[in-house]
Amino acid sequence: MVKYKVWIENEKCISDAVCAHLCPDVFEMNEEYKATIVPQYRVNDNPTEGIVPEELKDCVEQAAAACPVQIIHVEPVEE
Ligand code: SF4
Repeated sequence: MVKYKVWIENEKCISDAVCAHLCPDVFEMNEEYKATIVPQYRVNDNPTEGIVPEELKDCVEQAAAACPVQIIHVEPVEE
């Protein structure tokens, strides 16, 4: 089954919340108003890296495409 690795270069986040708006199942804003992965999909409790199921691929890719500084990355992983 294909899942998707998602990671955010969150130190470069400009805090416009576009990703959290387009794909709230995967992205949220932290206390410093930087984008993070929601706890449910984090890898090793890392707030900037996650693994999401295939049904969330489209919304993640939409968010990645819409991010004005292009710091959201998505790639398939085999499980
Ligand atoms: S869309 Fe990009 S810049 Fe905007 S909050 Fe998300 S990661 Fe940060």
